[in-house]
Amino acid sequence: MSHAGTRTPDEELSQFRVRGEIPVPVLINWLTAAAIPLLTFFAWRAVRQDSAALVPTFLTIFAVLLGVNALLYFLLGHQTLQRRGFIVLIVALFTFLAIQAVEDGSAIIWLFAYPPIIFYISQARVGVIACVGGIAGLIFLFSPLGDALFNSPYSTSFRISMIIVLSFEMVSCYILDQSRRRSKLGLLRLAAEFEHAAKHDALTGLANRREAVEQLENEYERYRRTQRPFSVLLMDIDLFKSINDTYGHQAGDELIVLVAQCLRDQCRRVDTPARWGGEEFLVLLPETGAEDALQTANRVRSAIEAASVTVENRTVGATVSIGVGTIEGNESIDRLLQRTDEALYRAKEGGRNLAIPAGD
Ligand code: GH3
Ligand code: MG
Ligand code: MG
Repeated sequence: MSHAGTRTPDEELSQFRVRGEIPVPVLINWLTAAAIPLLTFFAWRAVRQDSAALVPTFLTIFAVLLGVNALLYFLLGHQTLQRRGFIVLIVALFTFLAIQAVEDGSAIIWLFAYPPIIFYISQARVGVIACVGGIAGLIFLFSPLGDALFNSPYSTSFRISMIIVLSFEMVSCYILDQSRRRSKLGLLRLAAEFEHAAKHDALTGLANRREAVEQLENEYERYRRTQRPFSVLLMDIDLFKSINDTYGHQAGDELIVLVAQCLRDQCRRVDTPARWGGEEFLVLLPETGAEDALQTANRVRSAIEAASVTVENRTVGATVSIGVGTIEGNESIDRLLQRTDEALYRAKEGGRNLAIPAGD
């Protein structure tokens, strides 16, 4: 959902499929599979009824072209080509059925199959254009000029009913299609919200522990491939218990949010700051060596030291202690975190508000 670019919401939507929804290429394949025997059957009837040779020939050609379109899709796998080819063929076919008054003129009622298909397989805008074009074409066919050109056998009452009922169907299809698209959009938004909630911490909006572990594992894989080391900062707010006790839990929460904001401000876009636990944070620094990581840690530490929140007209600030770990050799993630935690412990022991590099 993130690649906005120049695409319309409708195009965005068509990129995603909700479980249970029939994919457009599959629907076109099924429609093609149904249309080929039907066209063959009507071509055979046209031959039997001794109608003009034009009708069976054209129906057979449509059947063959639909088959070619399907074959091209199976060979090339080009969905847009398959959809456009299919739309062109069915528009041509329906036009032919209407003009030639196939099956004593009754074949024109196949036009009712057109709106639901066109709305399903194309964007709403294309569906509307196709329907308005279809109705305009029909009105032209039923006009005196159309009569002069094509000499169609339809009665006046049939023409009126056909246009009104087809318009009614097209509007209904449009409304149903809009509702379908909106429901799909709602589902996709909901899925995105759930995904976000599963990966982020509700209070700070930072990545949660689960997401941080996943990012760590990804980074670890990259390290194994490229041997370019990454670092982690493990930090804990100093004497947080007494802040809670003095100013209340609400003030404590505000400080946690403040620390999270400082982390976001101080980190690069590629870094992952995460809420590791209650008042503990972890920052993953991809492709970062020990020296740079320590520099970042001290920058973060100073920024947090300088920041504050106001609680009941009192300025409340906090400091953090940071363990700085850089991956080494073949060690595991757990071992790295253990070393970094020990460094954090030493920072606490050393008087707090310190960043200490992890030892071996
Ligand atoms: P130290 O410098 O050694 O880390 O001291 P500390 O008081 O921060 O240490 P300790 O880990 O004992 O205390 C952490 C406290 O953080 C305990 C808990 O009440 C508080 N805490 C944990 N999560 C939250 C939270 O989400 N909101 C608030 N307000 N407090 C929290
Ligand atoms: Mg703690
Ligand atoms: Mg603490």
